[in-house]
Amino acid sequence: MESLIGLVNRIQRACTALGDYGGGDQAFSSLWDALPSVAVVGGQSSGKSSVLESIVGRDFLPRGSGIVTRRPLVLQLHKTEEGQHEYAEFGHMQRRRFTDFALVRKEISDETERITGKTKQISPVPIHLSIYSPNVVNLTLIDLPGLTKVAVEGQSESIVQDIENMVRSYVEKPNCIILAISPANQDIATSDAIKLAKEVDPTGERTFGVLTKLDLMDKGTNALDVLEGRSYRLQHPWVGIVNRSQADINKNVDMVIARRKEREYFSTSPDYGHLASKMGSEYLAKLLSRHLESVIRAKIPSITSLINKSIDELESEMDHLGRPIAVDAGAQLYTILELCRAFDRIFKEHLEGGRPGGDRIYGVFDNQLPAALRKLPFDRHLSLQNVRKIVSEADGYQPHLIAPEQGYRRLIEGSLNYFRGPAEASVDAVHFVLKELVRKSIGECQELKRFPTLQSTIAGAANEALERFREESKKTVVRLVDMESSYLTVDFFRKLPQEVEKMGNPGNPAAANTIDRISEGHFRRIASNVSSYIIMISDTLRNSIPKAVVYCQVKEAKQCLLNYFYTQIGKKEGKQLADLLDEDPALMERRVQCAKRLELYKKARDEIDSVSWAR
Ligand code: GDP
Ligand code: MG
Repeated sequence: MESLIGLVNRIQRACTALGDYGGGDQAFSSLWDALPSVAVVGGQSSGKSSVLESIVGRDFLPRGSGIVTRRPLVLQLHKTEEGQHEYAEFGHMQRRRFTDFALVRKEISDETERITGKTKQISPVPIHLSIYSPNVVNLTLIDLPGLTKVAVEGQSESIVQDIENMVRSYVEKPNCIILAISPANQDIATSDAIKLAKEVDPTGERTFGVLTKLDLMDKGTNALDVLEGRSYRLQHPWVGIVNRSQADINKNVDMVIARRKEREYFSTSPDYGHLASKMGSEYLAKLLSRHLESVIRAKIPSITSLINKSIDELESEMDHLGRPIAVDAGAQLYTILELCRAFDRIFKEHLEGGRPGGDRIYGVFDNQLPAALRKLPFDRHLSLQNVRKIVSEADGYQPHLIAPEQGYRRLIEGSLNYFRGPAEASVDAVHFVLKELVRKSIGECQELKRFPTLQSTIAGAANEALERFREESKKTVVRLVDMESSYLTVDFFRKLPQEVEKMGNPGNPAAANTIDRISEGHFRRIASNVSSYIIMISDTLRNSIPKAVVYCQVKEAKQCLLNYFYTQIGKKEGKQLADLLDEDPALMERRVQCAKRLELYKKARDEIDSVSWAR
């Protein structure tokens, strides 16, 4: 039984930690609300603080006549292993462990005064106190200021209502167990505690009636009507208590003696002897503990689902933030390679389709290159004037006899040179498309977002590789053009002389040829022959340049964009790898916080699981 309540205290502790952490964590406040606590309610000086103390079995609360308790005190009892030292800790000074309970009492008074001053005013700001001891059962108890009927000197007019509102705010929560304290020397019909408890808990299922000051009753009277439930019926049995009197307090009668005296009081009492086993503060503590267990057990499913929900939320936040980076070099290298691959995947998708952009490469081949080829200034190069000039220059002092072999060659070579421009321009155009795709892919790579340094390193490596591919590609396309000039297509020219003859004068072929050789028609024919040869070459190059570009640039980029980078990175030291994986510090901090909270919640869940399966 205690394990379960201990568990709940652990969850509460975890939640308190979470609350401190996140500052008003939503899950925290609702989880806290889901767990039961015990609050003492009653008129001023009815013995509330005394009852709490004796349940705890320790003297630590300020007690006395008048308004002593002026701020709520949230008290968590944690049962520790037998033989452990007892100590107390305050929420407002967690570093310090109190072992002297007289100092705890003083700190409660001091802390009360820190907010309210040395007045008779009250404050709703709670004081959090935890007690760790082998002599307690696990409980969360709340001590509250006593209900009053009139404002005394030094108090504001509203104090009666203020106190009631504050007390009500604690006891109206459905999971607050109410310890309704009434002094036996007053008529139960006048009990403030019962009055308020009845309002907030009409069925009485979470109200425990406690009757104090049995020893102060008038001679000849007893409280049996109340204790046996005849005066006012509650779902739970009434418990009678005898606390220390003011005289005992003044004489510093300690708890052990007080408890013994209480036991003796009941066992020797002629009125209550038959009830002795169900009376006293120790019995009250057990009763409460048992009740809490059943309440908590009923709550486990909703608590578990709340914790699971929080865990899910935190895990998805963790996913969003990215998992923490490993510390050893091997794992870091692995992470870097994974990230590179993630980038590479996206880059490939752009090239192969699935993501846009790759089609622009086809655009270069289908539009840009043919348009550039069409625009080449062959008209000018093969103008009559230029043809005559080049052919004459090629002939030298002896004009050609049949066909101007040298002239043809020079005209063709001159023309072919023009193809270098469009060929190189295609290489550059594709290069820029690829570069743009690298930039896009890096931007789209979600995993890389965390690592700005690695991002720019990958971009740098990819662009370097593209640059190398571009060089290679340029060499290749220029070579294609050069190859055309190195060896002309013989077949094409073999046909030429026959055509010349066909076109000549059939009546006197020899005479016609002689005139032709120097006439405009002759040069026009040469120009047209060269032109049709060039058109043929242009068609060839229009097809072969794209093949070279894809082979040298696109295919390489697809297959081994980061290969060189991979060989470089493999040689790097741990420090250099870590530098590549440096993150935004704010992000790192958020992850640490998130991980801590996740761990706390998971611990709480494991504990709940282990207990809820245990029975
Ligand atoms: P609170 O104001 O309700 O917290 O009451 P306290 O616990 O401070 O007690 C008020 C006064 O009543 C103190 O002087 C206590 O010694 C005294 N007192 C409380 N309970 C008992 C009791 O059962 N018997 C006797 N004789 N005095 C009690
Ligand atoms: Mg009190």
